[in-house]
Amino acid sequence: MSDFAGYQQHIIELIYLVASALFILALKWMNTPATARRGILAGEIGMVLAIGGTLLQHGIIDYKWILVALVIGSGIGVPLGLVQMTAVPQRTALSHAFGAFCVTLVGTAEFYLRTPNVQPFMMSVLCCEVILGGLTVTGSLMAAGKLQEVLPQRPITFKGQNIVNLSMLVIAIVIAVYLVHNPGATHLYPVMVGIALVFGIMLVIPIGGADMPTVISLLNSYAGLSAAAMGFVLNNKLLIIAGALDGSSGFILSVIMSKAMNRSFTNVLFGAFGQVAAAAAGAQETRPVKSASPDEAAGILAAASKVVIVPGYGMAVAQAQHKVRELYDSLTKRGIDVRFAIHPVAGRMPGHMNVLLAEADVPYDRLMEMDDINGDFPQTDVSLIIGANDVTNPAAKTDQSSPIYGMPVLDVERSHTVMVIKRSMNPGFAGIDNPLYYMDQTLMLFGDAKVFVSNIVKELSGGHG
Ligand code: NAP
Repeated sequence: MSDFAGYQQHIIELIYLVASALFILALKWMNTPATARRGILAGEIGMVLAIGGTLLQHGIIDYKWILVALVIGSGIGVPLGLVQMTAVPQRTALSHAFGAFCVTLVGTAEFYLRTPNVQPFMMSVLCCEVILGGLTVTGSLMAAGKLQEVLPQRPITFKGQNIVNLSMLVIAIVIAVYLVHNPGATHLYPVMVGIALVFGIMLVIPIGGADMPTVISLLNSYAGLSAAAMGFVLNNKLLIIAGALDGSSGFILSVIMSKAMNRSFTNVLFGAFGQVAAAAAGAQETRPVKSASPDEAAGILAAASKVVIVPGYGMAVAQAQHKVRELYDSLTKRGIDVRFAIHPVAGRMPGHMNVLLAEADVPYDRLMEMDDINGDFPQTDVSLIIGANDVTNPAAKTDQSSPIYGMPVLDVERSHTVMVIKRSMNPGFAGIDNPLYYMDQTLMLFGDAKVFVSNIVKELSGGHG
């Protein structure tokens, strides 16, 4: 290596080191809303440095095709970044599919470049890379299709499914072991990758749309691990670090989400959850409920001294977060203590409510996590539920036959008055009725979240209280 090339390599290593540190800091800062924006920026700068450092690599002899790929990639990436917040889970799944596709292609190129002289360690890492990468490509595409409803959301199951799936995985692993000892057996390589691709489809079809976000974070973990394996193959430390961070954070997120929905991993992967929910959806009650108008709701809020707002998926759909912020301002101006109760799986993706409320500049210290606020509901005058349903369903605590039995929920029914903004008596994500709506202390505020909240704000500024 010439002096210049050696110098260049040192610079690249330094850039990679700074990028790795930025990725780690990004994850740390994204832990709390107060530093989340800084975290995103750190991640972005880290990624620019990682790409820049890679473009400095000595081995690159021509930038023409890299430029073409950059233009195509940006052409796909920019519109993907503009999707609605509610479509972020399927957008994320697509990103995983692209990342894993890239990993699988790079692994395949490396295999054909190196065969038959591949050391056993290198070959085993390469096999891990393409098996995980391959199943993540098709698994993520299936997950995105189910969430976007271009594929059926319901679980597709057949007899002996788990045995068929397991056998496929075992065959792919047996081929991988054979290739580790006989890397010249090039005819077996496409069979192994092909099985991984089919396995990804088979892995996701028995899982209902309800569990897709958890599956996506699990696939995120697989994509990260395959990228880390690629780092070993390419001898690239940055890829190993970034892949390991991605792999472990995706796994931790899946565990957190499963816990918040009171589901075990095996239950998510083999439970066919959507079927239960669909079956229960038929049993909707016809009991009477009490409803109220915006001016009645405004009067009740104005007379309260402690209010807890519970946002959910409906607030996201209605894009009501800015109006909710106006309501918060209007109530706090009157000296009312207003806090927000954030359920870990409210909405359709982790941190969904935090992101929306941060966008509307609701002060972070007003957002309370479920465990911190549940004890305060008996001292709460009004719980105002805005487009949330399942996360407030008391049946999760009392009805053993409920599909969400055991899921931790917000104890809103313990507050003096409960007001629920939603458009109808239709169920939420789990497809089940909510007994909260028929309780004595509950008032239904029927309407679109944005319109209803805006009408309450108007009533409040009109001089109630
Ligand atoms: P939810 O149970 O899905 O209920 C949302 C409610 O919002 C619906 O009942 C709907 O009732 C109402 N709504 C919809 N559009 C509205 C609008 N424009 N204005 C007013 N209301 C509107 O939502 P959630 O309580 O937030 O619970 C989240 C659910 O998603 C849980 O079951 C959770 O397990 C699941 N989940 C979450 C995640 C995650 O990461 N956050 C991941 C996977 C699954 P109407 O139709 O009557 O208006």
